[in-house]
Amino acid sequence: MRQYRNYIAGEWVESARRFPDIDPADGRTIAEVHEADRAMVDAAVESGRAAVRGAWGRAPVAERAAMLYRIADEIERRFDDFLDAEIADTGKPRALASTLDIPRGAANFRVFADILKTAPLESFQLDLPGGAHALNYTVRKPLGVVGVISPWNLPLLLLTWKVAPALACGNAVVAKPSEETPGTATLLAEVMHAVGLPPGVFNLVHGFGPDSAGEFITTHPGIAAITFTGESRTGSAIMRAAAEGVKPISFELGGKNAGIVFADCDFDKAVDGLVRASFLNTGQVCLCSERVLVERPIYERFVDALARKARELVLGWPRELGTSMGPLISAEHRRKVLAYYRLAQQEGATLVTGGGVPAFGDARDGGFWIEPTILAGLPDGARCMREEIFGPVCHVSPFDTEAEAVARANDSDYGLAATVWTGSVDRAHRVAPAMRVGLAWVNSWFLRDLRTPFGGAGISGIGREGGAHSLNFYSELTNVCVRIEAQEALA
Ligand code: NAD
Repeated sequence: MRQYRNYIAGEWVESARRFPDIDPADGRTIAEVHEADRAMVDAAVESGRAAVRGAWGRAPVAERAAMLYRIADEIERRFDDFLDAEIADTGKPRALASTLDIPRGAANFRVFADILKTAPLESFQLDLPGGAHALNYTVRKPLGVVGVISPWNLPLLLLTWKVAPALACGNAVVAKPSEETPGTATLLAEVMHAVGLPPGVFNLVHGFGPDSAGEFITTHPGIAAITFTGESRTGSAIMRAAAEGVKPISFELGGKNAGIVFADCDFDKAVDGLVRASFLNTGQVCLCSERVLVERPIYERFVDALARKARELVLGWPRELGTSMGPLISAEHRRKVLAYYRLAQQEGATLVTGGGVPAFGDARDGGFWIEPTILAGLPDGARCMREEIFGPVCHVSPFDTEAEAVARANDSDYGLAATVWTGSVDRAHRVAPAMRVGLAWVNSWFLRDLRTPFGGAGISGIGREGGAHSLNFYSELTNVCVRIEAQEALA
C-alpha cells in the first residue's frame, strides 16, 4: 500500500498512527497516511525558524525566484504523477484536473516569483520647514514560519496558492493538507526535495484539525502567521487559536453565492455559465452559485434549459474521457449534502431534477456519488438558502426588478462571489460593483488574473490574497524614515 509520510527538516518522517486515504469514486483505500504528532509539528516549526534565520531568509529575491521556477518546472515534469494522485484523492474528472488543478499548481510558483521580482517598494518624501526633508522607504522582510492549512476541493491549487507567495517572500512553511487529500501535497514535498530547497523551508505534516496537526500548527507559539482555506466555522476556531499569539491570519472561507440572470442576457451562454457555476467539481468550489435568481420573463424557459443540461452531465469514471462530473469527496460529506436535499423538501422546495444517489451496478456503487440537483420554491429565509451545502445543487427563483435582485443576492451572511448575466453594459456596471462580495463576475465565472485580489466579505473571509496583496500578507514591512538636513551649498 502506498505510504504518505510527513516531510520535516528535509527528511521523510513516519508515524505509528496512520489513517486511510480513500478514493471517493469507489470507496477503496488507496494509501496509508502517517499522522503527525505534536513533537513532529514542533520539529517542523523549529526547522522552519532555523531556515528563515539562515541563508533562505536572507537570500536575494532573484535566488528565491529561481527556486520557485525550478519547483514549477519539476511539477510539470511530474505532471502525470500529480494528475494521477489528484484524481485518486478527489474523484474529479481528468478533464478538469488536467486543465485546472495541476497546471495552476505549477503556475502559482511562476506567477508569485514574477510578482515578487517586479513588486515596487513604496517611498515618500516628507518636506519639513527650513528645507529639510524626510525620506521614507519600505523594506520587505519574511514573517517567519507560516502555517498553511488547506481544504480538499482543489488540493494542489489551493495549497500552492499559499505556499508559493509565502516562500517567495522568504518565509518557511509548515503545511497541512486536508486529511481527505494528502496525495499531491506529498508529491509537492518530493518536488521540494528534488529541486534542492534547503531543509526546513518547506515542511509537510499530515493529520486532522482538532487535537491533531491542524490544531498543533495554529496553537504553536513559533508560527508567525496562519493562512487558511476552508469552512467558515473552522475559521472561527482557528481565529480563537491565533488570538493567543496575536498572529496575522488570512482566511478564505465558505460561500453561498448568487447568480443573477437578467432577461436581456445571451440565454445560451447564461445557461452554460450557470451549469458550470453550479456543478463544476461536483459543486465543491467555494465560488459555486447555490442561489440562482432569474428575471421572471425567462424564468420557466431558463429552469427547463438548466435542468436539461444538468441531466446531461456524465457521472462516469474520473479517468474516462467524456466524464463531466465525479463523486463527492467522502461518505460523510455525502450524508451532509443528502441531509440538505431532504431538508430543502421539508422546507417546501420542489425538486426540479435530481435529489438522490445514482445506481451504477459496478464498483462506483461503493463510492460517494450523488445526483446533480436543482431546487425551486424556497423562501429566501429557508436554511437551505442561507447555509452553504457544497454539493452539486442550486436553487432557482424568479425576480421582477434589478433592485430586488441586488437586495436578495446581498441578503446573505456570506459574501464570497457573485455572477451577473446581462446584455446591458450599464446594468453590468451598476449591478456587479453593488454585490457585497470579494469577486463579482459579469457574463463569466471562475475566471481571474492571478495578480488580482481574491477573498471574501462577511463570513466568507478575512483579508485578500493574490498579486501584491499576497506579498503584503506574507511579508513584514519596515518603514525606514531618514531625516535629511538642508544644505545651503546645494540649494
Ligand atoms: P474544513 O474547514 O473542514 O477543513 C479545511 C482544513 O482545515 C483541513 O485541512 C482540516 O483538517 C483543517 N482543520 C479543520 N479543523 C481545524 C482546526 N480546528 N484547527 C486547524 N485546522 C483545522 O474545510 P473543507 O471541508 O476541507 O473544505 C470545504 C470548505 O472550504 C467549504 O466551506 C468551502 O467553501 C471552503 N473553501 C473556501 C475557499 C475560498 O477561497 N474562499 C476555497 C475552497 C474551499
